[in-house]
Amino acid sequence: MSQAGGAFKTPRNIGIPGVKPPEKTCNDPKCPWHGHLKVRGVLIEGMVVKTRGRKTAIILHEYLHYVSKYMRYERRRRKIHVHVPPCIDIREGDRVLLAETRPLAKTIAFVVISVLGKKESSQGGA
Ligand SMILES: [Zn+2]
Repeated sequence: MSQAGGAFKTPRNIGIPGVKPPEKTCNDPKCPWHGHLKVRGVLIEGMVVKTRGRKTAIILHEYLHYVSKYMRYERRRRKIHVHVPPCIDIREGDRVLLAETRPLAKTIAFVVISVLGKKESSQGGA
């Protein structure tokens, strides 16, 4: 099957039900929707804390960890470096869904697959 470059590409099925592909397309080979990147492993929800250029961002993931000695949960947080394909627009404060993938760089093994919620701008404060 031959495909002319530059034409509209239909997003691939990345094998995760319930996740909508982005409306934009891109030419990033490391995009799970339009490139060749395969996602497998865990899905993580997190909040964007820092966006840099060069298609990377830092996501804060908060989760509960069970401590059996006290039979309670403790809150833990973890910062995750992620790859952001150009078809997905994120800002600091957005909630995003990450999928695990192969190591893309020394510290990056996750990719943003969709935006769950934009930062609420009606939080007072000018
Ligand atoms: Zn893409």
